[in-house]
Amino acid sequence: MKYISTRGDQSPKHFCDILLEGLAPDGGLYLPESYPQVDDATLSRWRGIYQNQGYADLAFEVLSLYIDDIPAADLRALCHKTYTAEVFGSPEIVPLRALENGIWLEALSNGPTLAFKDMAMQLLGNLFEYELVRRGEELNILGATSGDTGSAAEYAMRGKKGVRVFMTSPQGRMSPFQQAQMFSLMDDNIFNIAVTGVFDDCQDMVKAVSNDLDFKRQYKIGTVNSINWARLLAQVVYYFAGYFQATQKNTEKVSFTVPSGNFGNVCAGHVARMMGLPIARLVVATNENDVLDEFFKTGVYRVRGSADTHETSSPSMDISKASNFERFVFDLLGRDGARTKALFGDALARAGFFDLEAHPAFSRAASHYGFESGRSTHADRLATIKDIYARHGMMIDTHTADGVKVARAHVQAGVPMIVLETALPIKFAATIIEATGREPDRPAKFNGIEALPKRVVEMAADAQAIKSFIAAHCS
Ligand SMILES: *Cc1c(COP(=O)(O)O)cnc(C)c1O
Repeated sequence: MKYISTRGDQSPKHFCDILLEGLAPDGGLYLPESYPQVDDATLSRWRGIYQNQGYADLAFEVLSLYIDDIPAADLRALCHKTYTAEVFGSPEIVPLRALENGIWLEALSNGPTLAFKDMAMQLLGNLFEYELVRRGEELNILGATSGDTGSAAEYAMRGKKGVRVFMTSPQGRMSPFQQAQMFSLMDDNIFNIAVTGVFDDCQDMVKAVSNDLDFKRQYKIGTVNSINWARLLAQVVYYFAGYFQATQKNTEKVSFTVPSGNFGNVCAGHVARMMGLPIARLVVATNENDVLDEFFKTGVYRVRGSADTHETSSPSMDISKASNFERFVFDLLGRDGARTKALFGDALARAGFFDLEAHPAFSRAASHYGFESGRSTHADRLATIKDIYARHGMMIDTHTADGVKVARAHVQAGVPMIVLETALPIKFAATIIEATGREPDRPAKFNGIEALPKRVVEMAADAQAIKSFIAAHCS
């Protein structure tokens, strides 16, 4: 399997070449040159593997179609090391539970940081360590976080050979629970940096360091952002696992509703569907930051400025542009790299939007690729959380609530609708209390976490300061 860029660069790369990379050299995103097809017999075999052997072996089957430069025995061992009941809380890893009227919740949030990003990031940590040791190289991951991504990255990379993590976050802006999760890590290779400023200041520091190519090369600076193909690939697996739990035979279809921000999670659903998984609809749920809902309703993709990006109670979906969206548009346009480049490289940079309404491909987003969308607001979240708690005695987090709200409007009779649960309510306790008047349940392993000693340095929003800090901790 080779990988190509969405902007036309065809110089073929293998999986491990792009594993540690971000963007392709032409500024595009990597995709496999074709999607392996899963026929009926294979789907039946995988159903048996998930039911009898478990998630790790299913993950191996999916990944091995895309990874041909890691020996099979090693890849299988990496999957088994990653997807354990101890780390993810149950033997199913992603158990499905019935909610109401054909709507199901797929639990993706029982990993170390209680958000679905662990599903991919835990595997990424093991893949990075494997590849860095094999090459005899080191990597310094530099990131900016306002919550979920940073903690998932730290819990994935802690204690790993060859990797250090330098994670900036805006001082005092994360929830107390999120701060405690990150700052209580005592591993030598994890560095928390609280920046006096807002999230954009953190991101500017990271950009400034990455733009200093000499520094970047000398200190082996890398990232783990959501455009990484390995993260997306790891997420494909749980669409299969959800399907196998919701159906008995391969003639049945299911739909998924996915709380979306950067379009990574739902893009993995698109990949699963392209492989032949019988998915009827892929429903994109957004919050007030509705860049994606606007596109699927109108054909206009219009990125927002920071002034038009709302701070909401489902903060992990507060995006101004959807960084993985280019992957889907590349497929939608019949894999026309030049056209994709014209839209994402030129039109967006020049005008801040593009409009596909009149393009014949646009109608195929729904008819051919199964995409639908909907939007949810703070009032919708509160009402949905309250209603689900009152009627089912179940607490759901704010992002999952956006999903349930939108799913309810898209259910079809006879087609199970699976909503991906992207975080646990304890991470967003204030809004849960606002909706239900009650404190959400806390998994026992997090009892008293806010009182643990914290390991964090404070820093001004200054690129030179972080460079000096990295240099001082890299020898
Ligand atoms: C990251 C995140 C999302 C958005 O996922 P994308 O892959 O960026 O679309 C939704 N919910 C939660 C809780 C998240 O952490």
